[in-house]
Amino acid sequence: MRYLIFLIFLPFHYACTQQGTAQPNQQPTAQLPEATLPIKTRDTVQTKAETETTPTPTKPAQEFSIEYIMGKFDPAQHPDFVVVDKKYADVEGYFLRKDTYESFAKMWEAAQADGIKLTIISATRNFNRQRAIWEGKWTGSRVIENGANAAKKYPDPKTRALKILEYSSMPGSSRHHWGTDIDLNDLDNYTFEQGPGKKVYEWMVSHAHEYGFCQPYSPKDDARPNGYNEEKWHWSYMPVAKKLTDLAARSMTDDMIGGFKGAETAVEIKVVERYVLGINQNCL
Ligand SMILES: [Zn+2]
Repeated sequence: MRYLIFLIFLPFHYACTQQGTAQPNQQPTAQLPEATLPIKTRDTVQTKAETETTPTPTKPAQEFSIEYIMGKFDPAQHPDFVVVDKKYADVEGYFLRKDTYESFAKMWEAAQADGIKLTIISATRNFNRQRAIWEGKWTGSRVIENGANAAKKYPDPKTRALKILEYSSMPGSSRHHWGTDIDLNDLDNYTFEQGPGKKVYEWMVSHAHEYGFCQPYSPKDDARPNGYNEEKWHWSYMPVAKKLTDLAARSMTDDMIGGFKGAETAVEIKVVERYVLGINQNCL
């Protein structure tokens, strides 16, 4: 009988002690069968969409980790990610976070109703994918944006890294790891400065914020002196990306960036401060 009363009251005890404490990694202090544990065990910053669709986990978990920010996971295996339908993209097989994708689909419909065609040409790229891009540019097997073989033209490692960083991220430091960021239509600012592309860009500037999207790589100026060059094609889903930027500001350091050719330049270049956090102030 005493054991039965214990089982009845313990869940109430948990509900009270967990409320508002935001300690997602705290383990229960008593060993109980799983069926008697309280239902709500995940971090309170979990998004609404996730609470509606995610099965009840059996142990507390943080919403985002440093491994997530640094792209060290497979989006095809991650429960928060979905495949992008071909009608939104140039090719099949892109992944996005579900929350980002749902908002993008609404924006795509609204744009189409206004005669604007939005086409995703890149979405989630994990660490390994970004390493292939970066090392291709680092070794010269892939030309950089000015058409140069960086390995030949820029033998000094820091100079070479800074050249590649004009448009490409070091693995572990890309917003494309997050599932919140997309490239649209063309990887060329000029496309968006005249003709049909200009109409696309003007539509995005006027309406993207209505769907939570922001252009993180705005023109370089006094307010954004560091970071990647302007990218009129790159858009971020801020309701989630803002949390990830905040977590990067709190938890990410340059010495965490490694595991690829040229990584030794990250500390001297101050990649976290100047590139990860060197974004459009309106996207913070
Ligand atoms: Zn991009």
